[in-house]
Amino acid sequence: PVVLGIETSCDETGVGIVRGETMVANAVASSVEEHARYGGVVPEVASRAHLEAMVPTVTQALHDAGMSFSDIDAISVTAGPGLAGALLVGSAAAKAYALALGVPLYGVNHLASHVAVDIVEHGALPEPTLALLVSGGHSSILQVNDITADIAALGATIDDAAGEAFDKVARLLGLGFPGGPQIDRISHEGDPAAIKFPRGLTGPRDAVFDFSFSGLKTAVARWVEARQRAGEPVPVADVAASFQEAVVDVLTAKTIKACKESGVDNLQIGGGVAANTRLRAMAQRRCDDAGVTLRMPRAGLCTDNGAMVAALGVEMVKRGVEPSSLDLSANSAMRVEQILAPRAS
Ligand code: ATP
Ligand code: MG
Ligand code: FE
Repeated sequence: PVVLGIETSCDETGVGIVRGETMVANAVASSVEEHARYGGVVPEVASRAHLEAMVPTVTQALHDAGMSFSDIDAISVTAGPGLAGALLVGSAAAKAYALALGVPLYGVNHLASHVAVDIVEHGALPEPTLALLVSGGHSSILQVNDITADIAALGATIDDAAGEAFDKVARLLGLGFPGGPQIDRISHEGDPAAIKFPRGLTGPRDAVFDFSFSGLKTAVARWVEARQRAGEPVPVADVAASFQEAVVDVLTAKTIKACKESGVDNLQIGGGVAANTRLRAMAQRRCDDAGVTLRMPRAGLCTDNGAMVAALGVEMVKRGVEPSSLDLSANSAMRVEQILAPRAS
């Protein structure tokens, strides 16, 4: 099947087209530069940008694929979680396209899509697989038994998401927004062992598969403040590298432990933070040591895009899942266990 997927949960207007396991288009229009001067995504600005970018991005994707609307067998769209107004623009467009083309509509979960995108990179997903989902709003270890119907969270962050921690630490170090790529870049010039920052929730009595990054963020802030009070320069690259090392150490250690305890020896890492070069290297090494088969999409497919939504849509069609209804509601707080927006009853 050929599925056109629409993603508008945050600041990227993404339209991807996937045929079977092949990505044939992945057009993205980002409003990130409009948000950068505010130091974070402004929901109203994002919604308006989606509205302006929607039709041109769909046109671009069809052009890139060398296809026309008549080639599309189904439409999939991010139904949640995300910014309410932004989701609304995508779902309204998706409904209109599905209705006009007379094809089924799938309102899918953004987090499951971050996992599903790996299918266009590495083929069918082994099931069960564990997934480490690390993004701007989420940090979870998931057990994926069926990517269209059965995902269970083994653990999640109890405070900040990993990407959020990257963004906040980058801000306090005076690096730009979004901060993850900046910290990744500057860390190559720093010493990851320069400062020993705390590893949250790794004590023997702590919840095994939950994460906490808020204490780490505060520890970095305190460390930087102490330096500044003493009138000493802040070694930005060392702080960034040491912070990054703490995040990556905890993420990979807990995930490998989850693989061992659940007996699942397939791991997929997805979400924007999966683009992080240090995370990718440490995860690969630790998976090799533990005999776990690791899959990660290329960095460009880790951050938000339309192909990930199309990839999950293809799985829905292939497995004969009943489509969503045309009056589906976007759900800004959609839980990861809810992979498909329900049919109206
Ligand atoms: P969610 O998927 O939870 O709804 P989101 O869609 O806003 O959140 P993504 O686009 O998946 O998030 O990821 C964006 C996040 O990834 C940002 O916090 C960004 O800083 C982080 N990120 C992107 N590249 C890197 C990198 N190389 N290293 C670390 N973090 C990164
Ligand atoms: Mg984004
Ligand atoms: Fe995302």
